[in-house]
Amino acid sequence: MLAHLGIDDTDSPRGGCTTYVAAVLVEELHELGARFVDYPNLVRLNPNAPWKTRGNGAICLRFELEADLLDEAFSRALEAVKALSDLGDENTHPGLVMLEGPVPLALKLFAKKAIRGLAGLDEALKLCARYGLRTYGFKSGRGIIGALAAVGETLAGDHTYELLAYRTPENRGRPRRVDPGSVVKMDEATRPFTFNNYDPETGRILITPRGPDPVLLGIRGEGPDVVLRAFRMLAIGEPVERWAIFRTNQGTDAHLVRRLVRELRPHLPAVLRGRVASQPKVIPGGHVVFALSDGSGTVDCAVYEPSGRLRQVAKALWPGDLIEVAGGVREGPGGRLTLNVEKLVVIELAEKLLPENPRCPRCGKRMKSMGAGKGFRCPRCGHRDPKARKVLVKAPREVRPGLYLPPPRSQRHLTKPPRRYGLEKYGQPGPPKGEWFGLGLPSRGSEVDGNAGPR
Ligand code: ATP
Repeated sequence: MLAHLGIDDTDSPRGGCTTYVAAVLVEELHELGARFVDYPNLVRLNPNAPWKTRGNGAICLRFELEADLLDEAFSRALEAVKALSDLGDENTHPGLVMLEGPVPLALKLFAKKAIRGLAGLDEALKLCARYGLRTYGFKSGRGIIGALAAVGETLAGDHTYELLAYRTPENRGRPRRVDPGSVVKMDEATRPFTFNNYDPETGRILITPRGPDPVLLGIRGEGPDVVLRAFRMLAIGEPVERWAIFRTNQGTDAHLVRRLVRELRPHLPAVLRGRVASQPKVIPGGHVVFALSDGSGTVDCAVYEPSGRLRQVAKALWPGDLIEVAGGVREGPGGRLTLNVEKLVVIELAEKLLPENPRCPRCGKRMKSMGAGKGFRCPRCGHRDPKARKVLVKAPREVRPGLYLPPPRSQRHLTKPPRRYGLEKYGQPGPPKGEWFGLGLPSRGSEVDGNAGPR
């Protein structure tokens, strides 16, 4: 019998990670006789959902198992969630669901809604009842939303992989010991088929998170082979408890959907296309704000200080520029909406015309004002013209049409990094092949070719 087990909301800022629960369960279900039909799926949901702990990730395990063992599989999952969740945290509300058979269209649509908008617990529970899913919610059961969305997102569109390695308990909470030099070398050897390994502007290593969770590192890439090969290249100075390769919607822009300004609501991700409607201004904190109009309305767009050079680009925009901005909608004081920009495409530049003093018609020198409304005089030849007025002069533009993103350190999990453009892929790969999970470090492997292409 084909089964899909979805889990979400097991962690808190104090620790835990839903992917860790998945990695533990992969071992357990494997022992129980499960034959996995896909890599564990790590599905990132709407990054603007207000309840998320960090990256709003939910997971789904898809496997075949004897029908009479499915109850056992579900209760083992329950036990794992109970043992590994931070149930004491007021914001942790784990949810588990298990679907038998193929994934119905209604669940696929529910998943899209949870990735691109907000979904409700009532709606999730109704779908669970309609399709006969085993369902369990701890506390408020809010995690059922994410768990069901993970089941519904079968990753048939563009997808990527992430190899996640976990720490042994005694090391959790301590600095992670992964040699930065080996990360840079790994990046050079595997690019463009791995991404966001480190931030080139600051040199910061991005494969290692910084919180107390059990994740030692995560390597993101285009295929299972390349992330495993990259993992073997790293110099790691602490034991690895276990590791697993996930298939995921990270780095695919899956959350971004085109909307009109008048359709914007708080917490929605959106892509807007329109013209810059005000001169960008820098507000306290170094953030850049400008207005954008698309014919249906006008909205403020904010590029925050951590967006690095993206701020310089935003500052150089000019009213009339045709642009596309993507980001999440935030509600400010008085219900005013702002789009937090996480991606900017400059499509067409307007002429930037600035008022300047006229040139002297006799000698060509720029003239000086004789006072408001009193015309201009030439400082060189003395020519006076009481009727002269300021003229509009075309100023050079400090921005070019193109795609602009924040630096990797400030990108969201779902943001498609520049390295991925042209590497998109579609369709499900089928059952995992070769080594894809394990305890300790993986075997050394046999790949010796220098070709870093994904499988
Ligand atoms: P991590 O990434 O570290 O695993 P997290 O950021 O995924 O943590 P969770 O602890 O899983 O955060 O909390 C997210 C909660 O919000 C879950 O209960 C999930 O069901 C719910 N949720 C996620 N996305 C949506 C959405 N689009 N609409 C409604 N609820 C959502």
